[in-house]
Amino acid sequence: MSNSEWRVTARRFVLAGSLAGLPSAACASAQAGGVPTAGWGVMGLVVAALLALAGVAYRRRLLREVERLRASHEELTTILDSVDACIYVKSSDFRYQYVNRKGSEIVGLPAAAVLGKTDADLFDSVTAAELRFNDRRVLEQGEKVVVEEGYVQGEESSVFTFLSIKLPLRRADGSIRALCGISTDVSEYRDIQECKHRLTFYDSLTGLPNRRLLLDRLEMVVKGTRRSERYAALLFIDLDDFKVINETQGLQRGDRFLRQVAHTLGEVVRESDTLARLGADEFVLLIHDLGLDVEQAAHAAERVAEKLLGQITSAQVDDEQALTLPISASIGITLFANGQANVDDAMRQADIALQQAKLAGGNTLRFFNADMQADVMERVHLEADLHQALARDELRLHYQVQVNDRAEVTGVEALLRWQHPRRGLVPPGQFIPLAEKNRLILPIGYWVLETACRQLAAWARQGDRQALTISVNVSSVQFHQPDFIARVQHTLEETGANPARLMLEVTESLLMEEPERVRNIMLRLSKLGIRFALDDFGTGYSSLNYLKRLPLDALKIDKSFIDGVLDDPVDAAIVTTTITLANSLGLEVTAEGVETEAQHRWLQEHGCMAFQGYLFGRPLALEELSLTEPLRPMST
Ligand code: C2E
Ligand code: MG
Ligand code: MG
Repeated sequence: MSNSEWRVTARRFVLAGSLAGLPSAACASAQAGGVPTAGWGVMGLVVAALLALAGVAYRRRLLREVERLRASHEELTTILDSVDACIYVKSSDFRYQYVNRKGSEIVGLPAAAVLGKTDADLFDSVTAAELRFNDRRVLEQGEKVVVEEGYVQGEESSVFTFLSIKLPLRRADGSIRALCGISTDVSEYRDIQECKHRLTFYDSLTGLPNRRLLLDRLEMVVKGTRRSERYAALLFIDLDDFKVINETQGLQRGDRFLRQVAHTLGEVVRESDTLARLGADEFVLLIHDLGLDVEQAAHAAERVAEKLLGQITSAQVDDEQALTLPISASIGITLFANGQANVDDAMRQADIALQQAKLAGGNTLRFFNADMQADVMERVHLEADLHQALARDELRLHYQVQVNDRAEVTGVEALLRWQHPRRGLVPPGQFIPLAEKNRLILPIGYWVLETACRQLAAWARQGDRQALTISVNVSSVQFHQPDFIARVQHTLEETGANPARLMLEVTESLLMEEPERVRNIMLRLSKLGIRFALDDFGTGYSSLNYLKRLPLDALKIDKSFIDGVLDDPVDAAIVTTTITLANSLGLEVTAEGVETEAQHRWLQEHGCMAFQGYLFGRPLALEELSLTEPLRPMST
């Protein structure tokens, strides 16, 4: 009953009382203008009766109101519980004040048990921290937050994604008293989205990016090269005769083989590059950021392509029955920078290069650019020729004299030359890195050692030359051979050379590789009487630690420092420090690449006692060497 209804009812009651002819005396006296005592009593009773009636009516109204509220609360609870989203209210201290059925299901507790708890009581620490972070934005900054939240749930730690809307609940004065959140499970939707994304951008057989994603990334890289000078490369990789596998082994094994190829190719590719499959047996590799120098970029791309070719030959179908067919691939490469190519150009150029590789018989690579191609071919030919060099007796040893402070020749350094039938004398810098890469340095290195030892043995029989030493450069590839010590020992015995006259030159990089192992090998060789020099000192890590620990006899200061001693105070400081260091460690020190009398004088003044350089003699064939005459330094 509303207030106005109540007033109307009371008035009706008063009216009814007077019409029913309530005590006429009272009425009469009232009409006469005075109120007798009995009249007051009656009035009091009426008022009391009226108040009692009003109280009863009010209570009824309250009960009805409570009933109505309970009904609407139940309705609301039914509605909230039937919603397939988690609805909750959290107090300003992040404790749950309300949670609906879905919410209690998610945490696996009855709603009553959730109340008063925080997320830290209900979820793992990562989830709780993420929820707290979002809640703070609502409770502390009053933001309305719409955010994806991950919940880890169950023993298998399944991750669910919820889309959460969180709002502040405010008091009348506008201050925030609580947070109301609605979180909807969108995991399935996300999975579908991801699946759709995978199908759109990835190849279903290999899981690699497909043509569409490759083109997107290529577009980005092409745009990137417009802004920078850095090179990128696109490599088209096509298996040679893949259809033979399909025809002879069946499509299923063909598919398995393609998956295996994708996997092995992936092993040599940087994470930042894109390896894609365009279809059938065509793969593409997009390499970005190959540096600013075109030659270095070409070499880097070539190295990757060679690795890919190697990987493909080793790829096998991963089942018991090994693939017996020889498998190889052809690779076409194009390089671009400075916006030289758009997406279509790059794809076309790499394809043309691929066709050229195919035409050349497969199992090879080709560059689109003719100059790069020539450069690569040059090295390919050089490498092919190098295989024949030993057999064709094209290697030569030249010797460069080393002198003491009285300009007397104390020994020589053996320096390798390749007398190529067409190219002439090829310097070691051009073929030793190749020989190290394909391990031809092993037979070549032993040939150098053997030739030098024979020479030592021959000089031992010539009275005026028997004290001369020969320094032989040793590559780290040789040093790491398990039979290196045995081979050196065998060579010494076979040639009859005096080990004390043999100096092996090693570089700092070798010492850094496996220091303990290298130290042991050096110690065992030292026991035979062989001496060691550290070549190119100062260009590597120059760690004082190995100078102390290794059985070294001499340091050779690199030519690059000697070049600067007269003009560059830093070079001068490095050289004087090295000389002092060597002297205090009891090591000989040789200055390499001494070209002028001024350099020679400066070095002598700073305590250096041994020299090698054009000033005293260039590397020469044995017949041209003058060894016994004290050398008069050539004036410059
Ligand atoms: P390295 O052992 O530091 O040899 C010194 C290089 O400096 C030699 O170059 C020599 O000709 C050059 N040189 C000496 N004095 C001067 C000078 O006054 N001015 C100038 N401009 N150059 C001078 P080369 O013969 O071209 O050898 C280059 C490198 O090739 C050698 O550097 C060594 O690391 C390597 N090498 C040479 N022979 C062999 C070998 O038999 N085995 C191995 N593993 N490496 C070798
Ligand atoms: Mg050397
Ligand atoms: Mg050197």
